[in-house]
Amino acid sequence: MFLVLLIYVNNVMVATCPICSYKADKNFEYRYNIKEDIKYLKVLNIHYCQKCDFSFASPMPTEKNLDNYYNNIYRSKGRPHYINLKKFHKTLISPKNLSYLEYIDTFLNLNEIENILDFGAGTGDLGFLLKKINPSIKLYCIENDKKTISILENRGYQNLKSLDNHSIKFDLIISLHCFEHLNSLKIFEKFKLIGKNRSKIFFEVPNCPFNDSFIDRPYDSPHLLFFTKRSLLKIAKDFKLNVINLSFKDIEYNVDFLEMKSSKELYENWHEKNKRKLSIKEFILSLTPKIIRNSYDAVMLSNNLKIQTTLRYKAVELNKRSCIRGILEI
Ligand SMILES: [Zn+2]
Repeated sequence: MFLVLLIYVNNVMVATCPICSYKADKNFEYRYNIKEDIKYLKVLNIHYCQKCDFSFASPMPTEKNLDNYYNNIYRSKGRPHYINLKKFHKTLISPKNLSYLEYIDTFLNLNEIENILDFGAGTGDLGFLLKKINPSIKLYCIENDKKTISILENRGYQNLKSLDNHSIKFDLIISLHCFEHLNSLKIFEKFKLIGKNRSKIFFEVPNCPFNDSFIDRPYDSPHLLFFTKRSLLKIAKDFKLNVINLSFKDIEYNVDFLEMKSSKELYENWHEKNKRKLSIKEFILSLTPKIIRNSYDAVMLSNNLKIQTTLRYKAVELNKRSCIRGILEI
């Protein structure tokens, strides 16, 4: 669905901000991680709304194009989000998942949660872990990827496929690194319809401050919405959601960019028709982000890639971290 209308005024390309409808100028050309994805997402530009401190791609890909991309292409073999069925469970007890649990435990009482919806669940790690802590929790998800659906079903999830046509009301909606893939903000209206009174939405998105980081970013794809703390506060206000907490999390975004650069070198030439084996060089490159990820809590990279054994977060200003995490109340 096109929510962003393209118009031209005096040869300056502008697009309508999905939050406030302000006509925002084109600021950057969209950068692809995988060159071939232009086939699915088409030629895009990035526009920045000063009023909302929010950036967005335009023209937005259609629902049909996005469904095809996420159902059939996104997790294909040889791509960054390919899931190796023999290995995916090894990252269940990761520092990232443990930090999600710790965060949830700070703000929510797990004993009061009867059912959880994970929107864009992927492999559903967090709900699976929460059910281990409180086995009476019922797990539901919305996930279209064929490969992950079987994982989710084995983990006790019921896949609803759509937010329409069911009467279940949820205590907790989880959506981790999903909002940035959507082509509009309508999901917040839907969440209000499927939540109980005072239900919570727990989410994490990339932190995308326009002035500080956009110029240096290695790529945008396949993200379409680029959030900041100010834009999330505005969205919460517009949709009448209470902000329980918003926190900057994860690594410094300059370090994140090094990982993205690695990813681009490894994956940018992936072709759908050529789901080939990796070359030695690509294999070595493929190890780099993993090494970085494995040292999540104890390692910080210096500019020359020299690894230092110091606390990774110690020198990082909060607002320069790569993600924003939050809990909103319906
Ligand atoms: Zn705006």
